[in-house]
Amino acid sequence: MERLQKAIAQAGICSRRKAEELILAGKVKVNGKVVDTLGTKVRGNDEIVVNGKEIAKESKVYYVMYKPKGTICSVKDDKDRKTVLDYAPKGERIYPIGRLDYDTSGTLLLSNDGNFTNMMIHPRYHIPKTYLVNLQGMLSQDDLNRLKHGLKTKNETYQPAKIRIRQKDYTRDRMIFEMTIYEGKNHQVKNMMEALGHSVRKLHRISFGTISADDLKPGEYRRLKPVEIKELK
Ligand code: URA
Repeated sequence: MERLQKAIAQAGICSRRKAEELILAGKVKVNGKVVDTLGTKVRGNDEIVVNGKEIAKESKVYYVMYKPKGTICSVKDDKDRKTVLDYAPKGERIYPIGRLDYDTSGTLLLSNDGNFTNMMIHPRYHIPKTYLVNLQGMLSQDDLNRLKHGLKTKNETYQPAKIRIRQKDYTRDRMIFEMTIYEGKNHQVKNMMEALGHSVRKLHRISFGTISADDLKPGEYRRLKPVEIKELK
């Protein structure tokens, strides 16, 4: 959802200011009805008519990117660090779906479809996100049970996670495992591990739903195929 005047300006019709004037003058219709007050929000599939002409709808685009380590998942950074959009296709107003930490690599989806984004990140939709975790420490049987049944910490309650152990290194007290979670709370994997007394050495997201960037190189991206988008929805 975005403001009507912004949608008009983004379609290249006029400036945002001019769009506000047109709205107030009763020259704008949304889905057949005149809207002459400011503040109305519109969705990508609403029909917007300005001065009797329908404005071009922005077509929806969906990408998967292999997020390199050392990039941030936002449009701009006040510390001037690289953002994932430095790697993304230019000329399209896309944004990352959810966040990965600066030092996390792997599968990141990007789109300009707000409804799709909300669906992908809302825990209600239960979309699995699988991470490869390189841990300092060993998960005990008790840790595994707590992860399996949902973990409560001082500040958070986490839904059950699935663990698949890949490697154990007893000499260095390290292990590598896959961890699947169905929500996307801030620093979730790291915080869950910290709550169990361990620290994450490296974190890589293998997949988001049915999509994986592991066929790409760090920094590369590709458009999702229609069938992949359908599967996610
Ligand atoms: N959990 C984390 O702690 N960090 C991420 O980047 C993603 C999930």
